[in-house]
Amino acid sequence: MARAAVSGRLTGRLRWQTATVEDVRDETGTARTLVLRAPDWRGHAAGQHVDVRLTAEDGYSTQRSYSLASAPGGDRIELTVQRIGDGEVSPYLVDVLEAGDQLELRGPVGGWFVWDPADPSPVLLMAGGSGVVPLMSMIRTRRNVGSRVLFRLLYSVRTPEERYYARELGPGGAQGGLDITHLYTRSAPEGPRRPPGRLTEDDVAAYGWPAEFAPMCFVCGPTGFVERAAEILVAQGHDPQRIRTERFGPVGG
Ligand SMILES: Cc1cc2nc3c(=O)[nH]c(=O)nc-3n(C[C@H](O)[C@H](O)[C@H](O)COP(=O)(O)OP(=O)(O)OC[C@H]3O[C@@H](n4cnc5c(N)ncnc54)[C@H](O)[C@@H]3O)c2cc1C
Repeated sequence: MARAAVSGRLTGRLRWQTATVEDVRDETGTARTLVLRAPDWRGHAAGQHVDVRLTAEDGYSTQRSYSLASAPGGDRIELTVQRIGDGEVSPYLVDVLEAGDQLELRGPVGGWFVWDPADPSPVLLMAGGSGVVPLMSMIRTRRNVGSRVLFRLLYSVRTPEERYYARELGPGGAQGGLDITHLYTRSAPEGPRRPPGRLTEDDVAAYGWPAEFAPMCFVCGPTGFVERAAEILVAQGHDPQRIRTERFGPVGG
């Protein structure tokens, strides 16, 4: 019977289902949050993603992965998609899709890059660009369950205009054990904590957690960012088993 239950859950997750776009929200000039209603959704954990499949009228079909930005709960889920200029799928999701449209998805997918709210360890979140999406799900989950686990977010982004979730991660967002640091790579607003530039060892030492605190580290973004961040964490003595990474794309950020 246990076997049947597990198998039922797996088939549910891996089956394509139709979701309806309920709303769209611009995060930046090139990124948009899609609020989807998926009647067959069976819930997810913070950090997981879905596969989205698009099928053209001539039957051509293609799929991509997108992280869940929303906290678990209910049949509404949110994805935030960054438009990649010459991309096949993301321009459609960002520029064309509108409320009332439908798309196919399956999931949730992934069991490693997941924050467990029952784990009392401090958490270090490190995001490069759109890599903040699954980390936002962790932040929202922490808030929704009333967790007091200490969170620090280091969010590397090119300019202030390219920040996602500007209100939630803005000046009023850092509260109750959540520290937020924006690290700008190209241009920073007046009075930033440090001049624009890519992630450095000093950033991680100043705004992350010391290795002795044994935090869970979640690193997500372009491959170059993820590799550099993980390298710095290991060099600073963090346990590699506690560094979880998710790579979104081939380009360094
Ligand atoms: C587990 C996982 C979760 C993801 N979650 C998100 C998410 O929450 N939000 C999001 O916007 N994307 C996310 N992605 C990336 C997403 O799956 C697509 O790769 C991305 O949207 C580009 O698809 P495309 O069809 O527009 O571009 P493609 O047609 O696949 O690629 C076009 C060009 O862009 C390059 N490229 C592909 N992906 C990227 C990228 N991420 N950054 C820069 N250049 C790229 C390709 O090398 C190619 O040169 C995730 C990827 C993975 C593996």
